[in-house]
Amino acid sequence: MLGAGIAGLCAARVLSPHFDQVDVFERDSLPIGPTNRPLLPQGPFVHVLLASGQRLFDRWFPGLQKRMDQLGAPYLDWAADTALFHCGAWMPRFASNLLVRPSTRACLEFALRSELAAVPGVAIHERTRAVGLVGEPGGAVTAIRVQTQDPVSLRWGSERTEVADLVVEALGRASQAGRWLGDLGHGVPSSTEIRPATSYATRIYQPADRPFPWRCLYLMAHGVAQPKAGLIWPLEGGRWGVNLFAYNGLRPPGEDEFLDFAGTLVRPDLAEALRDAVPLTPVRTFSVTANRRVHFESNPSWPRGLVVLGDASCAPNPVFGQGMSLAAMGVACLEDELRSGLDERRFQVRLGKLQQGAWLMCSIEDLRWPSTTGSLPVWTKLAATRWTDRVHSAAQRDLTLCRSLGDVIHLLQPPTSLLRPDRAVRVAVAPFRPKIARRGSRAG
Ligand SMILES: Cc1cc2nc3c(=O)[nH]c(=O)nc-3n(C[C@H](O)[C@H](O)[C@H](O)COP(=O)(O)OP(=O)(O)OC[C@H]3O[C@@H](n4cnc5c(N)ncnc54)[C@H](O)[C@@H]3O)c2cc1C
Repeated sequence: MLGAGIAGLCAARVLSPHFDQVDVFERDSLPIGPTNRPLLPQGPFVHVLLASGQRLFDRWFPGLQKRMDQLGAPYLDWAADTALFHCGAWMPRFASNLLVRPSTRACLEFALRSELAAVPGVAIHERTRAVGLVGEPGGAVTAIRVQTQDPVSLRWGSERTEVADLVVEALGRASQAGRWLGDLGHGVPSSTEIRPATSYATRIYQPADRPFPWRCLYLMAHGVAQPKAGLIWPLEGGRWGVNLFAYNGLRPPGEDEFLDFAGTLVRPDLAEALRDAVPLTPVRTFSVTANRRVHFESNPSWPRGLVVLGDASCAPNPVFGQGMSLAAMGVACLEDELRSGLDERRFQVRLGKLQQGAWLMCSIEDLRWPSTTGSLPVWTKLAATRWTDRVHSAAQRDLTLCRSLGDVIHLLQPPTSLLRPDRAVRVAVAPFRPKIARRGSRAG
């Protein structure tokens, strides 16, 4: 198992019933508490968790909820507790099954690692980096090459080989799987990138001790006229993670501009909430927001003994908060394959299909911005953006549609579920219905 990120920790769990020993090799040093680790660039950034990811984590790690309780992570009904302003109106709020435990990334990883520690036969080797695969040219992968870091001198030791029946590559955006496949004579997979000129800034706050009519707040951007958005995401310890998004080439705010930027969002609610909140961290900005997909599924040949998943195969723009959940869904697909007898190539094909919906959702949204580079077939873009706009406005008048939309956003249903005839009829008649949302209200 290569990488102890979200995909790696979950994959180690699903591999464990099928192998006597699962060794996880991670280049980073892993803290013994819920703190950031040095080599995970996204660590300090707010990580929104979707219901699909939460459900899979709960399935694999039955003690996770209790552990998140102990760590002080809140419990959120996404549809009831989130005030979401989109397309000029508040979305309806209603009791749902979109339940999540928001936390910092460090807290979630620590909880997952702690749970994994109780799984028999799994060992995590920190400060050990993968540098290549071993196999016969054009044949199966049989081992990996790794190096371990000296904790005092921080020098990397000499290479050694670790033999494996199966290598699962989950090295995230740093993955070298494409090049390694090429080195082994399997060809280099093609890749697609959709690159928006989107950046964002994150800061953690201690909110003031006063009531707010929401637990999570999301003020969305609205086309080139309003290329800014803001999010407050609750965290463990009663804190808030705040993201301010800058689209279409706009610069994200730095330390001195954070509050002013918040004041220029589509509504004043977020700036008002921060008015008496206390910043706990510096502002951090991030602008590597490309949607990146490597087409392992269509590589000319595929070796036995290797699978690649997580961000290494499909890394959506972090702004959409799908990456961890999509990575977990890929692991669920691996779990399914392992139960029925793993065929590595078939797995990559299944994974590619599974990722398609989320990939299109993010890429199509990003291609709305004129400054985004990369392309998709024109019909996909036109059909999807027009339909998405109609579904969003219709959902403001129809709770059933709103629920369906929530399921799609949380990756519980594919986007195509919104094209079902009964949904299409609801979208068509929605303009004749009254709006059901009022600010801060909870429907149904
Ligand atoms: C700024 C930012 C914000 C994000 N926000 C969200 C969000 O709100 N919600 C969400 O769901 N997702 C978010 N994501 C995406 C999310 O972080 C990833 O989709 C998710 O972590 C994928 O898991 P992974 O295991 O594939 O990759 P990672 O979690 O990145 O794990 C890869 C692991 O491999 C290790 N590694 C790399 N190279 C080597 C090597 N050679 N040898 C050994 N180990 C190595 C790394 O240290 C790391 O631990 C965000 C990403 C970024 C960059």
